[in-house]
Amino acid sequence: MPIPKSEWIWHTGTFVKWDDATVHVTVHALHYGSSVFEGLRAYATSNGPAVLAAEAHVRRLFDSCRVMRMDLRYSPADVLSAILQTVRRNELESCYIRPLVYRGSGPIGLDGREAPTEMAIFAFEFGRYLGDEAIEEGVDVMVSSWRRMAPDTLAAMSKSGGNYVNSQFIIMEARDLGFAEAIALDVNGLVSEGSGENIFVVYRGALYTPPVGASILLGVTRECVITLARDLGYEVREQTFPREMLYLADEIFFTGTAVEISPVRSVDRIKVGNGTPGVITRRLQDGFFGILSGQMPDRHNWLTIVR
Ligand code: PMP
Repeated sequence: MPIPKSEWIWHTGTFVKWDDATVHVTVHALHYGSSVFEGLRAYATSNGPAVLAAEAHVRRLFDSCRVMRMDLRYSPADVLSAILQTVRRNELESCYIRPLVYRGSGPIGLDGREAPTEMAIFAFEFGRYLGDEAIEEGVDVMVSSWRRMAPDTLAAMSKSGGNYVNSQFIIMEARDLGFAEAIALDVNGLVSEGSGENIFVVYRGALYTPPVGASILLGVTRECVITLARDLGYEVREQTFPREMLYLADEIFFTGTAVEISPVRSVDRIKVGNGTPGVITRRLQDGFFGILSGQMPDRHNWLTIVR
């Protein structure tokens, strides 16, 4: 299904019509993956649309640029304001927002630093990435035969286009084999993350999630969930763990802007716990969606009101 069009796209400083936000075939990013991007969500609240963890996403966008040695001509405040304007201008109530920074047309060579750094932001209506059923009942996943990139090959902390070739291998294999998603191991054979989401495992009452050294993207939702879990009094351990923890876990769930908090009900056709979302997963979902819907106080200031 193509992306549902909204009217306006912010493209390097001005709003243009959706169909006019185009690039030339010579842009560096198209050839060599030299882009960085973000994915944010705005939720409908009684105060109108509100963006979740906007500042954390903007910070990560600038971190990604820094790793890629891309100079953005805007400040974080400019970018935040452009994100909010994009939602406002398109009169969206709840949506997914995609800021994209890319090296434009320059010399043909690999060192793209002479190419101009361009930026676009688009937003569109978006439901549940893995479907409504995924949030309620959980998804069936496999362990991928593809590993995440080794730390001295690509930079996992930078959310850059090139990294997502690895994610594409992971998701294509999973779908071809009839799974909703796959979990990739890192170069040491330890659990890393899904193609586009972080992973948490509940084992003997504590939560485990792989650390930054396990070739993960440092997820914004991951951080929110760690905070929520600690608020609820659970122990959260950011540490590496082996594949078999996935088979021994009482609960497993994915976190990400797109998947939100999605329970995993089986791994490699082996049921997780009794095959239904566990109590801790449910409590975290309730806390998370409670804040995002405005039913619970936004005690960590996660929401930025758009209007
Ligand atoms: N890992 C990868 C590879 C991702 O693409 C994403 C989605 N951005 C995540 C984890 C989750 O990150 P976040 O919670 O910031 O969306």
